Amino acid sequence: MRPLVTADEYRKRVLRGIVALKPQRIPLDAAYGYILAAELSATRDLPPFPSSAMDGFAVQSADTGLASAEAPVVLELAGEVRMGRPALFEVARGKAVAVPTGGMLPAGADTVIPVELCGLAEGGLVVTGPSPPGHNVRPAGEDLRQGEVLVPAGRRLEAADLGALAAAGYSNVEATPRPRVAIVSTGDELVDPGTEPASGQICESNSFLLQGLVRRAGGEPLRAGRVPDDPAAVLEALTTAAPSADVFVCSGGVSVGRDDPVKRAFASSDAVSFLQVAVQPGRPQAFGTWLGKPFFGLPGNPMAALVAFELFVRPALCIMAGRDPQTQYVPATLQGNLGASADCVRYVPVRLACRGSEALAYPSGRRRSNQLAALAQADGLAEIPQATNLEPGSRCRVIRIRDG
Ligand code: AMP
Ligand code: MG
Repeated sequence: MRPLVTADEYRKRVLRGIVALKPQRIPLDAAYGYILAAELSATRDLPPFPSSAMDGFAVQSADTGLASAEAPVVLELAGEVRMGRPALFEVARGKAVAVPTGGMLPAGADTVIPVELCGLAEGGLVVTGPSPPGHNVRPAGEDLRQGEVLVPAGRRLEAADLGALAAAGYSNVEATPRPRVAIVSTGDELVDPGTEPASGQICESNSFLLQGLVRRAGGEPLRAGRVPDDPAAVLEALTTAAPSADVFVCSGGVSVGRDDPVKRAFASSDAVSFLQVAVQPGRPQAFGTWLGKPFFGLPGNPMAALVAFELFVRPALCIMAGRDPQTQYVPATLQGNLGASADCVRYVPVRLACRGSEALAYPSGRRRSNQLAALAQADGLAEIPQATNLEPGSRCRVIRIRDG
């Protein structure tokens, strides 16, 4: 048996050759979730012109200074500003112009009296109190000045960013695309869900699991097929998927079994290395380059595939997508016993609960690595360091496998 490579060492090796995908121009209405490649600044002041913050009347503050309920000032109504139109009337001394919320502030005016605070009489607008300069006026550039950074590079575009970019006039952005991940499942025993498995067969599940994991990691999954334990079929599926993929993820067939097809597919080349990594589950792993694109061979056992994905594939996809590749661990207090492995870091499904601001991790009870049902009830994977049994109350760290 070859010596085990630690997970950290393996991750370093895997990530060494991974680079961010080339940014693409993405229409703003499709840009949600993309990573902005370069910062974007305001190309003009926001808002672009001074406007009224209220439905009211634009006037000169100086005209209102002496106004009171006892001695109202009456200003002549000189016109009305319409939404979306330039303010055509100038506000001279003694004049007022009606202006709606967001309407352009007419030249000459420096304050807006809200409709509620004044009256209309035959002679014009009746003002019963002073309105200081700038009152109810939104100056141009109040939100952002031309040239100021609107959204920084590396930002994952979310609702507020998209709104701000649209407000600044951007209809598309330069963003790092989502890595397209071709997922291939291997195994003579596999049938598609919806088909009745014959004796000795099982339903193929990894491509669905991996599809979800890829999406969650910000990638674009492409289920590229379920193939038998035949090296030629594996290579054919990968080759067919290659034009529409940035990275390959294959499950099954990477260990030492006689029929392991992925191992046999790459036996005569050194493009892909097969290693034993010190994680449990998830020991046999393959990584390399195929047709110029990163290739991951994950163990077939679904729980092992999940662990391998989280530890090695997810960081790679993050780098390709321009995202932070660090695994985000939840610090938690363990609510059960977890036995360590002598030579591996172990990952065990746990449920998470909150006690105040503390996260509690409850082992699911079912510990065998092929148990998808245990995973479906879990919120995360608790990490058990090599040769360190964890007792109730121990601090541990958990990789979340579901959000919220
Ligand atoms: P392998 O890594 O090919 O030796 O497979 C290890 C275990 O995982 C076997 O019990 C397989 O039946 C199972 N397995 C492999 N691939 C899949 C898959 N795509 N869906 C469900 N189970 C799988
Ligand atoms: Mg197999």
